[in-house]
Amino acid sequence: MKNEEPTNLCTTCENMPECLEVGILERETCNDYEPRSLDDLVEADKFVNEVMAGSCPRCGSENTNDCEVDSLVEDNTVGYCLNCATYWCLECGHIFKGAKKGMECYPIRFVPNVLQKMVT
Ligand SMILES: [Zn+2]
Ligand SMILES: [Zn+2]
Repeated sequence: MKNEEPTNLCTTCENMPECLEVGILERETCNDYEPRSLDDLVEADKFVNEVMAGSCPRCGSENTNDCEVDSLVEDNTVGYCLNCATYWCLECGHIFKGAKKGMECYPIRFVPNVLQKMVT
């Protein structure tokens, strides 16, 4: 019998590092499956977030997130610092002065200086 929903046991299995080494990936069934603890999974999640957003350019805090699920910004190229409430561009490090939907740093970076004075 197969489960209706394809599942990937490997991402939640204690033995994943060993299996990876021998080239076993994304198993749906496995005799050596050992579920990882919830704490472990939360830690792994945190790690992913850190890798994605990095530390805050203003205060250096690691307590950051990208804004993919931010109800206001909804943009995974924008980082948000939970420590000092700073929003910044993950691609170039530009710090936004506020937060609004669809904001991006592109116009600020590429508009020539003369024009920039007119815009701002
Ligand atoms: Zn910060
Ligand atoms: Zn940017």
